[in-house]
Parts: sequence; C-alpha cells; structure tokens
Amino acid sequence: MNIKELDNKYVAPTYARFPVCITGGKGSLVYDDEGREYIDLGTGIAVNTFGVADDEWIAAVTAQLSAVQHTSNLYYSEPCARLAAELCSRTGMKRVFFSNSGAEANECAIKAARKYGEINKGEGYTTIITLKDSFHGRTLTTLAATGQDVFHKDFLPLTDGFVYAAANSKEDVIKLTSENKCCAVMFEVVQGEGGVLPLKAEFLTWLEDFAKKNDLLLIADEVQTGNGRTGELYGYMNFGISPDIVSTAKGLGGGLPIGATMLGEKVEGVLGAGMHGSTFGGNPVCAAGALNILSRLDGELLDGVKRKSEYIFSELEGAKGVKSVSGLGLMIGIECERPVSEIIEECREKGVLVIKAKQKVRLLPALNIDDEILIKAINILKEACAK
Ligand SMILES: *Cc1c(COP(=O)(O)O)cnc(C)c1O
Repeated sequence: MNIKELDNKYVAPTYARFPVCITGGKGSLVYDDEGREYIDLGTGIAVNTFGVADDEWIAAVTAQLSAVQHTSNLYYSEPCARLAAELCSRTGMKRVFFSNSGAEANECAIKAARKYGEINKGEGYTTIITLKDSFHGRTLTTLAATGQDVFHKDFLPLTDGFVYAAANSKEDVIKLTSENKCCAVMFEVVQGEGGVLPLKAEFLTWLEDFAKKNDLLLIADEVQTGNGRTGELYGYMNFGISPDIVSTAKGLGGGLPIGATMLGEKVEGVLGAGMHGSTFGGNPVCAAGALNILSRLDGELLDGVKRKSEYIFSELEGAKGVKSVSGLGLMIGIECERPVSEIIEECREKGVLVIKAKQKVRLLPALNIDDEILIKAINILKEACAK
C-alpha cells in the first residue's frame, strides 16, 4: 500500500485530508512524495512560524536534543525556566504554565479562572462567558468553551459553566454577567476558525473596562493570533488591552508541540503545587525551539508582517471574484464568489497550498516568507478567484 492508502486504512478517519503527502521543504516551499513543489501559505495551521526546516531553529532544537530530550517537571530545566522568563518579560505577565497544545493551554486558563472566581468572588462564581463563533479546542471542556453548536453535537454532555455572547455584543455580555455567576470572559481577538474575523477595537476596550468594574478576568486565547502572527507579538497588543490570562500554542514552538498559559498579577498564585500538571509540559526540546522563535520576533520582523499583510490586502480587496478580505497581520480570510473548495483545489494544482476557515480561503504564511514567493502565490490565488 502507498502512504495515502495506509493512512486511509489505519489512521482514525477524523480528518478530511488534501490529496498531498508532504515529505520535505525549505522555508515557504514544501514538496510532496511525487517531487512536486508548492508554496505553503498554511504553515501547518499557523505553526511553522519560520517555515520548514529553518536552519537557526533546527540548530537550537538539535543542540537541546543532544543534551537532554526530556526531564519531567520533577526537576528544573534551563530552557523551560528561560522561556517562562522571556514570555513574562515580553508581555508583563507574571508566570507561565506549560503544556503541549492549544486546548491544554486553554484548559489551564479555565482552571485558573474558576479557582480565582471561587477564592475572590465566592462559591459558584465559575461561569465563563465566551463568544459565538469562537474556537477554543477539542477537549470536552474547551469544546464547551467553543461557541459553535456544530462541534458540540454528538458529544454531550459537555463541561458546564460556559455561556455565549455574540461577538462584539456589549448587551449580551452585560446580560450574561447579570444572569450568571461569572468569573471571566474568554475571546480570540481575531476569531480564526470562526472565519478570520477581528473583534472590534471599541468592543475590546469597552470589555476591558467592564471586566475591571465587574471583577471578571479577561482571557485572551492567542493560540492562533499569538507569536507575531498579527503583526504584534500577541494579538491583544494591537488593541492596547491587558488580559489577565493569555493562552498560546501553535506558532510558539515553530513546529514542535508546546502550549503556554501566561498568568497575570491577579491569578499568578491561584494554582498551587499539585493543582495542575503535564508530563511533557515545558519539554526542553520544545522550549528550546520556542526560545529561538521568540528571539527572532523583533520589531523588524513584525514590521515585515505588517508590510506583507498590507500587500495581501491591497492585492485582494476589490479583486475580481473576491467578495471580502478580513483578518489581521498574516492571518487573512478571503470570501470568494466561487466555492472555497474549488479555489483551494485550483491553487493546489498550480502549486500553492491554502487552507479554509468556514467558507473562506485562509492564509497563514510563514512570517518570514520571501516577497517574491509571496507575490507569485498571491497572483495564482487571484487568478483562481477571478475565474
Ligand atoms: C487551534 C486553536 C486551538 C486548539 O489548539 P490545539 O493545539 O489544536 O489543541 C484553540 N484555540 C484557538 C484560537 C485555535 O486556533
């Protein structure tokens, strides 16, 4: 059997894969088992921050791999400690809990918020307001946090304690806060899986103020928007707000599984020894990869993200066959006149890999994608939209 046949027979059928088997690449170019080359505008869903087989990142990861690959959290380890310090110094957060995925990073955020509510607001103050069309993960609790019924059905009962406000609806947040014993509001500043939709700046500023007055924690799910993706180190930094908890994963490790839950002043101490844990959390190899990624997310790189974003918006807004363009930084959703699956297929046939979000084409290119390669890919995408 070839690889596709083996996979189709033995891997649990939870994924509808594109008919491509990726075997290697360099930067924003990847190739398949038939030797075809593609420009990758999906980066494994915003994970390969600097593309494939990046030399500096490989050096950082392999150096750690040769030293020690895993220690467990029974012992101290340098990459974990340094990564926590780096994340805190770059964000102003106070402490970090490490895990292995976005869903786990959110689980920790939820646990910390519930504990905060119980301690500071009183018994039962554990309800978390999330937004409709949000996406927070696939575990039963983060599914409950996800404000999309399509993901819920078939898996009931989910974890209790989540209520949903329409995105940008002050009225909903006010109403839900008065009707429930709430401890937090959780949101993505750009709803990724929900259709690459940024929240309104005015809503976020209002929400910060409302949360302060009502002793609600602000939880920013930066799993997708984090680590330079939106043109700032974390997406919330575009809006001048200060969350109490920030969860991140995807691009942090540059391709290795790592999740991080950053805890601000109000919650830095709520989870004590023995209250939470993860065997692989803070794994030294993943942490070494993340340290390398963070060290390169400087002003110049972020300016490049903004510049490339402006280029993509200016090329696609108003282009033939394009209904709308949304997003922030290098996280962009394109609503086309043609069905999204046709556009994706046609791009693939012409050597460009793009993905989707709801009924939109979604672009999540490497943050350091070469201008020339990007221009070539956007032209192919434009042609596909125009047909
Ligand atoms: C992808 C994603 C998650 C889930 O991350 P996993 O690593 O797949 O568990 C959670 N929140 C947001 C905003 C995401 O984009």
